Amino acid sequence: MVKRIAILGSTGSIGTQALEVVEKLKDKFEIIALSAGNNTNLLIEQIKKFHPMFVSVKNENDAKIIQDKFPGIYVFNGETGINKIAELPMIDMLLVAVSGKIGLKPTITAIENKKDIALANKETLVMAGDIVMKLAKENNVKIIPVDSEHSAIFQCIGDSKSVKHLIITASGGPFRNSTIEEMEHADLSETLNHPRWKMGKKITVDSATLMNKGLEVIEAHHLFNFKYDDIKVVIHPQSYVHSAVEFSDGSVIAQLGIPSMHIPIQYALTYPDRIEGIETESFDFIKASKLEFYEPDFDKFPSLKLAIEMGKKGGTYPVCMNAANEEAVFAFLEKKINYLDIYKITNDICNRYKGINNPTIEQIIEEDEKIREITRNHIKEM
Ligand code: MN
Repeated sequence: MVKRIAILGSTGSIGTQALEVVEKLKDKFEIIALSAGNNTNLLIEQIKKFHPMFVSVKNENDAKIIQDKFPGIYVFNGETGINKIAELPMIDMLLVAVSGKIGLKPTITAIENKKDIALANKETLVMAGDIVMKLAKENNVKIIPVDSEHSAIFQCIGDSKSVKHLIITASGGPFRNSTIEEMEHADLSETLNHPRWKMGKKITVDSATLMNKGLEVIEAHHLFNFKYDDIKVVIHPQSYVHSAVEFSDGSVIAQLGIPSMHIPIQYALTYPDRIEGIETESFDFIKASKLEFYEPDFDKFPSLKLAIEMGKKGGTYPVCMNAANEEAVFAFLEKKINYLDIYKITNDICNRYKGINNPTIEQIIEEDEKIREITRNHIKEM
């Protein structure tokens, strides 16, 4: 049977790799819809290759350009555009590969329309994990994680009900062996030089501060319904063990593989099947030779600790932390602040914040916008 797929964020890092998987497994998938932001040229190439029926872009002007080029397809734009894609009756699965809070509403729309979700967007669970997981359960919708760590845990758990701990691995990023003093002088290019994974800029900075791991702990808490104290983070520089679970009998199952996003993306798309796809090279234990594990250093990477604390507080506290961190990372990417300021600013904003318990989606979006504004002003005044 052919699986009919829509991809939100088709020109991004996950989106393009997902299309590489689809291209390799042509007879398994049909691309019904694609959405992209500003990268119209790449989207046009993708339309020529995958012939979607529906497309959505960020602004009206790009929509016109694409509509003129492809009069036979439906072209939408803006936030309503991606929401329309999320409710298309003919799709079986929605791959949410946009980054930022823009992924939140279409994910909810797709769940309400009983579509399975391949989830690569972090904000969905960090900002609204309680709401989204409850809705998925009510609608009997599967949320299949795309991120390598969550995919690993998802694969290790299988249908077991006897898991005691989740063990999330982290490469440790470019500053794993740096001193705090060295990090004080870290520039943009050092920060963006991730040792294992090639990703977008925002997530690469988050991987350097380990905020990314903190966000992943929050996601894992929601996705697998685990208490924060039962989720452990382990530094594993080789990035071969993508994560693991410990069962109540003391047995541990880990998922290993070369660090390639094609594997978890493909698994999410073909789940529950495993088929030979884009990665054909066998994992070589001899070549891997050594697997090391270390405790994370919370003094050097306080963002990880902050994220877990805000996760535990729940409500809109993770929303605040995520928004403040993202604004700080943007300022760092624009060279307005130093590397260590990213944590300082995020922490300051979180310390001053009074959160809301059991927020609605509207309140979440409002708080997010409010915090971003406060953070931007805070940065201006520095
Ligand atoms: Mn990850």
